[in-house]
Amino acid sequence: NRIITTDVTEEDFSLEGNLRPQSLDEYIGQQKTKDTLKIYIEAAKQRHDSLDHVLFYGPPGLGKTTLSAIIANEMGTHMKVTSGPAIEKPGEMAAILNNLQEGDVLFVDEIHRLNRQVEEVLYPAMEDFAIDIMIGKGASARSIRLDLPKFTLVGATTRAGLLSAPLRDRFGVTQRLEFYDKKELTTIILRSAQVLGVDIEPKGAAEIAKRSRGTPRLANRLLKRVRDFAQVKYDGVITYDVACFALDLLEVDQYGLDKTDRRILQTLILNFQGGPVGLETLAASIGEDSGTLEDVYEPYLLQNGFLNRTPRGRMASVLAYTHLGYPRPDLSTK
Ligand code: ADP
Repeated sequence: NRIITTDVTEEDFSLEGNLRPQSLDEYIGQQKTKDTLKIYIEAAKQRHDSLDHVLFYGPPGLGKTTLSAIIANEMGTHMKVTSGPAIEKPGEMAAILNNLQEGDVLFVDEIHRLNRQVEEVLYPAMEDFAIDIMIGKGASARSIRLDLPKFTLVGATTRAGLLSAPLRDRFGVTQRLEFYDKKELTTIILRSAQVLGVDIEPKGAAEIAKRSRGTPRLANRLLKRVRDFAQVKYDGVITYDVACFALDLLEVDQYGLDKTDRRILQTLILNFQGGPVGLETLAASIGEDSGTLEDVYEPYLLQNGFLNRTPRGRMASVLAYTHLGYPRPDLSTK
């Protein structure tokens, strides 16, 4: 059980409902995305029109679902939620679309995982607010067009590059979500602590923020774990010392790396002399799926300079060697 996982755990699910900011002003960070959305939302409201379709991409846990709900809130409409892998047949997608109300937001998580036929239902739906339904079979088959209410599709994906071009082109707004900096995460943690009624000192919040790898979902999860420690072992207050003690015990290090991250880097260094090594080979040797490695683990390691992506494969950086306590490598020969 990886505490650092950005997948939604059952515990998050109950927790996240309460912790979700409801408006753009409450939503911390992602300033560029917020500014863009504000303008589009304002313009759509003035025209009494639905908002353009929006695509959010970026690693899990950065607030894509939350933003989608905020869009619905700000537009004064409702959000329906589904996901790419949940819809198997075109008819299922047609039914979902047909049940939307005027102005609704349809949130499709992992939209890159929609299968081709289901995706094709979306094309006329997004472009003309209509679906084409085939009636009859063989020679007498014909298609009739059914009008839909105007709606806003909000798609979320870990990487925009995974989307087919025709789908990608149908989004009016495409926004990439960034990792949060320590200050933003500290603010998020302080806010979450207040919602949960947890006593926390700013230095304690900052320490949790530092180890949350730029991700609010992890920040909230670590906050909850550290709170449990504080409750049992101390007098309930999350101080800097409590935060350090608990996070060390959870094996989340100073950079927010956990056991799996360290194993990835260690494997690179010990088994492949620091690389370069191909993604598939690396994934196989740590027993992970290459997609997960690329979407979930790599972005943070790359962004923080532990890993380099070269045309010949992945390489461990000098920082990876020193952080894990290995002698500095001679990279000049690589
Ligand atoms: P994603 O859809 O990108 O996987 P979510 O929208 O589910 O991420 O966000 C995960 C958790 O992080 C939620 O509990 C949410 O409340 C919190 N969160 C995300 N972004 C923010 C933010 N900007 N400010 C405050 N909390 C946030």
